[in-house]
Amino acid sequence: MKASAYFDFCQEYKAEAIADSLRRGLSALNLEGAVKSGDRVLLKPNLIMAKAPELAITTHPEVVRAVAMVLNDCGAQLYLGDSPGFGSLKHCLEKSCIQAVMKGMDIAMVSFDEETTNLDPENLIAKKLTLAAAAFKYDKIINLPKLKTHSMMGSTLAVKNLFGFIPGLSKAKWHLRAGHDRHLFARVILDIYKQVTPAWNFLDGIVAMEGEGPTGGTPRHCGLLALSDDAPLLDYLVEKWVGYPELTPLSQEAQKLGWLPDEKLFACGPAADKPLFPKIKTAKGADQATFPGQRLWRRFFVKKPLISRSRCHRCRVCVQHCPAQAMKLVDDKIVIDYKRCIRCYCCQELCPYGAVRVGYGLGFY
Ligand code: SF4
Ligand code: SF4
Repeated sequence: MKASAYFDFCQEYKAEAIADSLRRGLSALNLEGAVKSGDRVLLKPNLIMAKAPELAITTHPEVVRAVAMVLNDCGAQLYLGDSPGFGSLKHCLEKSCIQAVMKGMDIAMVSFDEETTNLDPENLIAKKLTLAAAAFKYDKIINLPKLKTHSMMGSTLAVKNLFGFIPGLSKAKWHLRAGHDRHLFARVILDIYKQVTPAWNFLDGIVAMEGEGPTGGTPRHCGLLALSDDAPLLDYLVEKWVGYPELTPLSQEAQKLGWLPDEKLFACGPAADKPLFPKIKTAKGADQATFPGQRLWRRFFVKKPLISRSRCHRCRVCVQHCPAQAMKLVDDKIVIDYKRCIRCYCCQELCPYGAVRVGYGLGFY
């Protein structure tokens, strides 16, 4: 029986070692022919915001270099793009040190600003889906997610990384449409996956993020590289490997759709049978039940975003990106209208100063 994923240990960000691991994985999964000579290949790392590699917020530049080395050997032409949650792509590439790799490896930058809209009645939720046109302009997409926890969705792995194909501020619209219902939001992301299916997914889990991810958590050395051509299966297996207490909404929805058949739920490779210990620390917002439409429950029992008075720089990034327009700057303080707040935790995700925490309280800490 063929394994669904290849899990390998890699302790350091050294491109040669990472490339060797990737080659072993491609061979083990019979994916060596997935990219052919002359293919135009789009790399999609996690570039959520402009941060340095050691913070474990973005895909590490040495992983990008290693993938480019392997794909150059295949004779592919390489492109790289993303739609960051906040800030310009160029700035994110500079800060993440990926730009330097792109120059050295002849990888062209692709903007996700141009949009295209597809109608698909077969989609689960998003019958009309506007995505970056770049998603459909290349022969292959290679997904390069980072292993991170996520306050709203539990984790951000291969499938969630594809949310970056939603251009710019349209991301907030989908958050607003899903509201507090993280299972509905999961189905939207699975709709994106149906439209934009990567040829393979190579997860950077050498240094992951635990705790208050995807941007405010703590780097955690896990030493994992994981490869698969099936993003939902990869995510399920990685969630098991890092020791999530329960499946995330994305994996639960993929399971309901029959996308995780029992016979495919196993990985091969040196790390496959050696799960992470101690288990990864989850985000505080990740273990909550969903109470769709029940505003009263939500106000009292679902953890909310709290603002640090001392850390907040009043930059208003959170105000500009809050999907529910629940945040305001009043008397030089950020104030949240919790009746409007849909608990998407985008404010925590995008705050450049780590000033937003998820918990119970009066609105500040
Ligand atoms: S909470 Fe963060 S994003 Fe919002 S104004 Fe303060 S520093 Fe800026
Ligand atoms: S206040 Fe924060 S958690 Fe609430 S809706 Fe706005 S961005 Fe989302």
